[in-house]
Amino acid sequence: MTRYPDLQLYIGGSWKKASAGLPVLNPADESVIGTVPVATRADLDEALAAAADGFRIWSRTSPRRRAEVMVKAAALMRERVEEIAYSITLEHGKPLAQAQLEVIRGCEFFEWDAAEGQRTYGRVIPSEPGIKYVVMHQPIGMVAAFSPWNFPMSQPARKIAGALAAGCSIILKAAEETPAGAMHIAHALHDAGLPPGVFNLVFGIPAEISQYLIPQEQTRLIAFTGSTAVGKHLTRIAADHMKPVLMELGGHAPVIVCDDVDPVAAALVSATRKARNTGQVCTSPTRFFVQKPIYEAFARTFAEKARSVVVGNGLDSATQMGPLANYRRIEAMEMLVADARAKGARVLAGGERIGNSGYFFPVTVLADVPDDARAMREEPFGPLALISPVSSLDEAIAKANSLPFGLAAYAFTHSASNADRLADEIEAGNVSINTLEASVAETPFGGVKDSGYGREGGAEGLSHYTIIKNVSHRMAI
Ligand code: NAD
Repeated sequence: MTRYPDLQLYIGGSWKKASAGLPVLNPADESVIGTVPVATRADLDEALAAAADGFRIWSRTSPRRRAEVMVKAAALMRERVEEIAYSITLEHGKPLAQAQLEVIRGCEFFEWDAAEGQRTYGRVIPSEPGIKYVVMHQPIGMVAAFSPWNFPMSQPARKIAGALAAGCSIILKAAEETPAGAMHIAHALHDAGLPPGVFNLVFGIPAEISQYLIPQEQTRLIAFTGSTAVGKHLTRIAADHMKPVLMELGGHAPVIVCDDVDPVAAALVSATRKARNTGQVCTSPTRFFVQKPIYEAFARTFAEKARSVVVGNGLDSATQMGPLANYRRIEAMEMLVADARAKGARVLAGGERIGNSGYFFPVTVLADVPDDARAMREEPFGPLALISPVSSLDEAIAKANSLPFGLAAYAFTHSASNADRLADEIEAGNVSINTLEASVAETPFGGVKDSGYGREGGAEGLSHYTIIKNVSHRMAI
């Protein structure tokens, strides 16, 4: 029978209980489903020592063997998909089917990076006779990684896979609110034969752990996914210690809907995508800039589809959208909707919390949202769709680029010249046309401006986990 796992730290290849813990809540009914251990300073020191040993072993393990372990772990997680998905639904709230897709996506990150880790080629630079210049890519060292709660399994998977594929060891502090996803990865890596210390999993007080781990001499990369505010804070600490960072931060994705497409088809795809993960996705489509001739038809269809989304407990097979993951998101939705309303936005669907037990909030469609509404500038990170009319592609591009964010951007158009302009002019790390998928394992993912720096995935993803070393070798002195 599937059950929520016993939560522990994973340090030096062993499971460890802690004397202090924090409750983990089920956002569908606010019941306590587990206690996440809080790591002490001594636990962190143990993890650092283990990761130093792990790095010595793993960096000298052949890329082929590393890939074997990673692929085996992914295969185990595929076998355990139902059990892992059940834990994710309990702690995060998303429907089981979405949790299963998340697990598969996490496995794909492992499989892709495992293969890429065997291709971190260097180069030989043409030189005069008697000397050779060789460029090598070596694992950067121990990675201190921090993953958020919106995808309890695939967010940790992305960071762990990158580090392991490059030959690094890693201490991951996964999200305290959704710890089971990362625990399942630890189990799979352990069972697949990962040497002790290569991967270490801790939980605790986020600010205390990052403040302690980042300055450590052996920490060579800080990899973080989360809000821009926390990302900037960690980057400042890293700068004081000259540590490189990989930052996947907030977004506020624009969607430009051109008048050459069917507004009904575009609205149906958009509303369905908006409901994914209850909108708690850094690439969630949020600001819809729709050309005037199709504006009303798009907004009307979007609202109808939004109202039809079945909201409920993720364990119920009829549920299409689960609760928000925590009460902070309910407060944020209520504040953003009230502000937009006060500034003149029309509420076409949703707008109010559902019930008062569990963190349920419907897909909420706001039309005619003025530029000065807070929701137009602050990442809602919830099921809010903001729809505004635009007169031209120029206006749409200017609005899309007007925020400090630049993670994902989308457009619907059948015009090759529109698509070409959008690809060139939109300021974002990922631009998707006629699809609301921002990235897959084989494409690089990351942001520009306040959305962070660095890329995960694709052929580019491992570059942050390696250093470039140039070796000049004269054959005789
Ligand atoms: P938050 O900014 O407090 O936390 C975001 C994440 O960072 C959490 O996982 C948290 O544990 C971690 N964190 C916070 N302070 C930290 C520190 N000093 N050191 C290390 N880790 C730290 O906010 P929140 O209420 O949990 O989430 C709200 C906002 O975070 C959202 O509005 C969204 O913008 C952002 N967020 C982004 C992503 C993403 O995928 N980019 C994921 C989750 C949250």
